[in-house]
Amino acid sequence: MFYHVSKEDEYLFQGKRRRLVEQLRLKGILDEAVLKAIEKIPRHLFFDQSTARPAMLEHAYSDKALPIGAGQTISHPFTVAFQTEKLEIKSGEKVLEIGSGCGYQTAVLVEMGAKVFTIERQKSLYDKTKLFLPYLGYKSVRFFYGDGYKGLPQHAPFDKIIVTAGAPYLPNDLLVQLRTGGIMVIPIGEGEQQEMYILKKTSDTTFERQVLGKFKFVPLLQNKA
Ligand code: SAH
Repeated sequence: MFYHVSKEDEYLFQGKRRRLVEQLRLKGILDEAVLKAIEKIPRHLFFDQSTARPAMLEHAYSDKALPIGAGQTISHPFTVAFQTEKLEIKSGEKVLEIGSGCGYQTAVLVEMGAKVFTIERQKSLYDKTKLFLPYLGYKSVRFFYGDGYKGLPQHAPFDKIIVTAGAPYLPNDLLVQLRTGGIMVIPIGEGEQQEMYILKKTSDTTFERQVLGKFKFVPLLQNKA
């Protein structure tokens, strides 16, 4: 069951989104295309709609991570904006996303002009998001149920790869599936916090690495149950 996306919702939440965008600017997000996407996408519709609806809607446009079902959370808007900005997406690029979750980050990527391939390992989230994004009008996304550590070798290479859960190490299969010149953004670290790695693949066997700031993600789970 999805909420009806009404005009009234839009008027009510548009102002909140504009304020969120101003906050993101103050926190250092510069990419206008990223900010425009966040200003457009109705984040309040992406939460777990079976629990605590009014409480969550209240916080939909504050910079918070909130539950989306199956014990998972939607990332903070700043985290989504930061990861997307670092991907330097150009229209038409093929992007692999690991951790579809509720599809909010996916929608931001589509708004940036990306052709998105997204993998989710929780069946309930996969089933829901696969219906929800087309319902919102995001029809071009390819959804996969499976283990993100393995990527999608049948669709490689990808121009960009984004991992939206904390990985204990850099998954080699993903690096292999990144085209030379491509960028991967991945939070790495076990436990409470991860460091954001921005990797640029410079040849088949080499990459440049930047490590930028600490973030909190749910873990990228191994050995799919
Ligand atoms: N981009 C999402 C963030 C969701 S949180 C959003 O905007 O909502 C991270 C997601 O990664 C969760 O949905 C979790 O189930 C998923 N995940 C965890 N381990 C995974 C794995 N090995 N492969 C694919 N998805 C995984």
